[in-house]
Amino acid sequence: MDLWTTILVFGSLTPAIISAIVGSMKGRGFTGFLLGLFLSWIGFIITLCLSNERAREERHVEMMSAVGGYKMTRVRCPHCRALVDENAKFCPECGGAMT
Ligand SMILES: [Zn+2]
Repeated sequence: MDLWTTILVFGSLTPAIISAIVGSMKGRGFTGFLLGLFLSWIGFIITLCLSNERAREERHVEMMSAVGGYKMTRVRCPHCRALVDENAKFCPECGGAMT
């Protein structure tokens, strides 16, 4: 392996692959790969600093279910087994009382 091949492998391919692995754990594998490829180890450091997209999505889902609180809470109708809002007095499917 000559000098330039060594520089190419350790200066570009290695950080690209490692950045892709770190990036994929954050849901940004391709971004990490490109950063590592073009910016070498600096790109890898940037990938480490990237916000965790996947965790943000999970927080978003948690937030939405917290906001939509009671709408998300559903119970089964004792008469027809339909999913009904737990605050409902009567089942919208069969009209049975929700007790
Ligand atoms: Zn029902």
